[in-house]
Amino acid sequence: MTRLIRGKEMALSIREEIKAEVAKICLEKNKVPGLAVIQVGENPASCVYVNNKKKACEEVGIKSFGYELPAQTSEQELLDLVDTLNEDPNVHGILCQLPLPKHMDEFKVLCRVKPEKDVDGFHPVNVGLLSIGKDGLVSCTPAGVLEMLIRSDIDISGKECVIIGRSNIVGKPVAQLMIAKNATVTIAHSKTKDLKEVCKRADILIVAIGRPKFVTAEYVKPGAVVIDVGINRDADCKLVGDVDFDSVFGVAGALSPVPNGVGPMTIAMLMKNTLHAFKLIEGIAE
Ligand code: NDP
Repeated sequence: MTRLIRGKEMALSIREEIKAEVAKICLEKNKVPGLAVIQVGENPASCVYVNNKKKACEEVGIKSFGYELPAQTSEQELLDLVDTLNEDPNVHGILCQLPLPKHMDEFKVLCRVKPEKDVDGFHPVNVGLLSIGKDGLVSCTPAGVLEMLIRSDIDISGKECVIIGRSNIVGKPVAQLMIAKNATVTIAHSKTKDLKEVCKRADILIVAIGRPKFVTAEYVKPGAVVIDVGINRDADCKLVGDVDFDSVFGVAGALSPVPNGVGPMTIAMLMKNTLHAFKLIEGIAE
């Protein structure tokens, strides 16, 4: 029997919680959290993500400031905008939708965002804080994965956790979060030998590789918890994860679907990070 980990429903609850908190703070302090969302160029996937983020802001009472810049914007112009937003007292979070056009140095741009406004958690200061177990802004997808496990009452301490994928935005920060929760963590990647055997050790298997339906039942220990971070389009343009849902369902003890799994949690955690940044900047106690 496989339990579904319903990210969409959890994300709705989190958004309701944030909405209530924002309303309370606005009433007491007469201040509103603000999130600046910068998009350069018109990548269709980015347009969808950016619109979803703005909609989520509106729903929870966070003010969003949209900056849609043409693809030919120079790196310096973008850096200047980030500098302005860093100093804007109405802006508590700054997000640069990735990917940026090829003529821009993404790392340089991400480093320009003040760490306390870095609601994506990509700034090296926040990455460093996470790795030494100190409070900072944690990247939204990894934070969403952890929140899904916690809200599903899944015990992490002492468990074997295997993460497939070692990217800076998903695999590595998820690993840090799981270590902090006392899991025994293995990070697998494209050069890992005997990947199936490694994955079969996992009590908790987190998959973030960007390969449609790659992980089948052969990778999963019966009863294991499987979190599918992947977002891919199959040959019919249907949204599918990195896990073959039909194959793994019935073997895993719990499984997150795609869509309606990690995706909505990522946006909910962005709202949470923006509220957190707002409270820190405005000196409001947690
Ligand atoms: P990257 O391409 O940056 O990293 C992929 C990782 O998977 C790499 O470490 C790579 O290994 C590893 N990998 C690739 N193929 C294999 C394989 N055959 N066997 C083992 N490991 C493999 O991807 P991201 O981390 O950015 O994203 C991963 C997935 O998560 C994508 O589908 C993406 O769309 C999705 N995603 C979803 C989000 C959400 O909100 N739900 C947010 C962000 C991403 P190596 O390092 O050796 O190359």
